[in-house]
Amino acid sequence: MKKVIKFLLRYIPRPILIRFSHLGTKVLPFFLHGDKVECPICDHHFSNFLPYGVHPRPNALCPKCLSLERHRLMWLYLNRKTDFFKREYRLLHVAPEQVFYKLFRNQKNLNYLTIDLESPLADIKMNLEEMTFDKEEFDVIFCNHVLEHVNNDAKALSEIYRVLRKGGFAILQSCIDYNREKTYEDPAITDPKDREREFWQKDHLRLYGMDYGSRLKSAGFEVEESHFIDEFTPEEIDRYKLTSEEIIFIGRKL
Ligand SMILES: [Zn+2]
Repeated sequence: MKKVIKFLLRYIPRPILIRFSHLGTKVLPFFLHGDKVECPICDHHFSNFLPYGVHPRPNALCPKCLSLERHRLMWLYLNRKTDFFKREYRLLHVAPEQVFYKLFRNQKNLNYLTIDLESPLADIKMNLEEMTFDKEEFDVIFCNHVLEHVNNDAKALSEIYRVLRKGGFAILQSCIDYNREKTYEDPAITDPKDREREFWQKDHLRLYGMDYGSRLKSAGFEVEESHFIDEFTPEEIDRYKLTSEEIIFIGRKL
């Protein structure tokens, strides 16, 4: 299974994976019958989750809803710490994660719009660095694991800030090396193999460090770095298979 996942992630374009992954979610749960791990998003339990990643890590991907560790933590955060599922919100979802797409779309309180350059889940094909929305159009913006892929992340962040209304918030997760003080960026590194070695993935343009929050601040956001994960017991972290060190970054426009 590890080899299959590695092959799919490395050689099959993401839009194609998105189109056909629902076939896997119909079949795979039957092979993972059990009650050792639990997905709080789809409320199903299994013997284990599937491995996932270019260098596959075990127990990561929910076979039913395709959630990863970070999605499960985010779901719990939204439910327990925000009024995201209760208030009327106009939501912009940049590069929509498949696991959230249907759930958000079906939420009656959310007026939901998605953008991406190539995803089949995008309502509008749009470049994050040059959005055509008016200022302050959205109450909430989701932009997760996108900024490490864009050419000019400062420009993208200033755009997110521009289209967010005053009092609104943005969830801005990225791939971060928590052991690195400063973000590592070198435009001369363009070869996919070099990028994978230096920035952890062949399509990453930089590797963020612990200065990530201050980069968000530079765009104008009031930044909250939530250590929500600390509220879980080791048993809960193990049952939901969460990542024990993940910080949730929330940018607010005051
Ligand atoms: Zn699930």
